Amino acid sequence: MRSIAWLSEKGGTAKTTSAINSAVGLAKLGHRVLLVDADPQANATMVLLEGRSAGAPTLAHVLIDRADAADAIRPTRTEGLDVLPSDTLLADANVALAPELGRERRLKRALEGLDAGYDFVVIDTSPQRTLINVNVLNYVGEVLCPVDPGIFSLSGLGTLREAVAEVARYLDNRALRLGGLVLTRTQRDNITRDVEARLRGTFGELVFRTTIPGTTKIGEAHARFLSVLDYAPRSSGAKAYKALVSEIIGHGQVIGIGGPPAGAAEADHGGDPGDAGRGARRRARAG
Ligand code: ADP
Ligand code: MG
Repeated sequence: MRSIAWLSEKGGTAKTTSAINSAVGLAKLGHRVLLVDADPQANATMVLLEGRSAGAPTLAHVLIDRADAADAIRPTRTEGLDVLPSDTLLADANVALAPELGRERRLKRALEGLDAGYDFVVIDTSPQRTLINVNVLNYVGEVLCPVDPGIFSLSGLGTLREAVAEVARYLDNRALRLGGLVLTRTQRDNITRDVEARLRGTFGELVFRTTIPGTTKIGEAHARFLSVLDYAPRSSGAKAYKALVSEIIGHGQVIGIGGPPAGAAEADHGGDPGDAGRGARRRARAG
């Protein structure tokens, strides 16, 4: 099982778009995927539940009231993809959890065991520094960061890197690593070219080869509560997200950037990055 959070300190960088399309893309390849919506804005929930908001229980009930995560998880129209939905109540979790013991580990405890039923857990997050995001960082094995050249800043990436390192150091997630940066909403212009050159110059292998072009199809897809993979499968946006999904699968297996120190938290994060691929192959044989 690989657990991946889409995270950035900025809003509007395509976290939600990337979470939806990577989760749908992985499921379409035969992987069992859980998308956890950890943003109170619940945009990913709206798309995956086809415009319906989720009734109780949601992630807020799981984190605050210790509702059983299994009861909150719903299937989606995409075979193999489930969602643990969010709603505005999640915004209260930061305050509600503040005085609680183990407040940084609620998500980890809630998903423990249950996540073994999935090949990938993909998490959408909000851009704020919140207790919810600390919970996310304490749970996942990898952070992926979308970078929009139009609202790019190297300092934001530095802060993200520090936050990841800090959580790995002070909390109980030594396996956490920054899995990669993805350029999104790229244009054929000098801003994109400059930012891409600086990013690849600074972060090298950490930057995914695939970039996601700016395309109106993405907004159109969201308005119809669809991933771009379903709405316009032959569009440049869909092709890019498909390529990104292949790279995400490959990144974990081949490159293993900044991978966990030997023996660290193998049980928590599946340690062996090859198990997701085997899961898919098992199902291919069974089906
Ligand atoms: P975040 O979750 O980081 O706030 P979103 O995924 O919600 O960002 O994207 C912000 C806005 O940008 C949305 O309106 C979305 O439809 C749009 N968007 C995201 N990716 C693209 C893209 N590749 N091309 C065009 N618009 C995009
Ligand atoms: Mg979002």
